[in-house]
Amino acid sequence: MNLADLTWPAIEKLDRRTPVVIPVAALEQHGHHLPVFTDSMLLGEIVRRAAERIAGRVLVAPLFWLGNSDHHLEFCGTFSAPPRVYIDLLCGMAENLLGHGFRRIVFINGHGGNDVPGRQAVFELRQRHRRLDDCVFLFATYWALGLPPASSGLVQREMGHACEWETSMMLRLAPHLVGDFASEPDVSPSMPFDPVAQGWITRERTERGHIGSPRFASAEKGEALFEHFAAQAVAFFERIAGWDGKFFDA
Ligand SMILES: [Zn+2]
Repeated sequence: MNLADLTWPAIEKLDRRTPVVIPVAALEQHGHHLPVFTDSMLLGEIVRRAAERIAGRVLVAPLFWLGNSDHHLEFCGTFSAPPRVYIDLLCGMAENLLGHGFRRIVFINGHGGNDVPGRQAVFELRQRHRRLDDCVFLFATYWALGLPPASSGLVQREMGHACEWETSMMLRLAPHLVGDFASEPDVSPSMPFDPVAQGWITRERTERGHIGSPRFASAEKGEALFEHFAAQAVAFFERIAGWDGKFFDA
């Protein structure tokens, strides 16, 4: 069910245990070969495929494209809500839904920079509403829902930025928007103090804006990635829709 297609009386009639899924992504630089709306387009496609297969069991809100992309601001065209503003925006949407009586609020994310503030938002929401015993707040990033894709000839073993994985999916979804990816240089995803968390800005890790190896991308890999991530999203949504409300077996 797409929330945007329904009237308010139709929404009011819904079972309040219905999970409400809010896709959150970004509008930010994606190197020299991908458009700035890449994360939003890719997440939109994954959620579209997943929602089709779980029709009627989750309510899907329109994709929220403004992300926390402060680390990309040196690159022209990037929009960003600073981290604390972003936390408040996510909490605000969740508060709206709580006010309407919904209790299972699920952010599905398509941009790395949203991860830390997104986790903070669901943490804060649970503390603020600690007297409610029937609510759950979740924040999940689509490529971190389970194991990475097993084969499909992928060279990269993890998500980068405007990388083999994202370029492949864009080649599948909107090839007319993909530039000359084959001549882009490899950019290592490693950081000097791994595995310690390090504050970083994108221009200190990459000159052209991408991280990873876009030259290995193909539309076939893109289709395999879409199917892999959509299947993981379906399993995740089904788990929430079928949840018995218990946090542990008493
Ligand atoms: Zn991206």
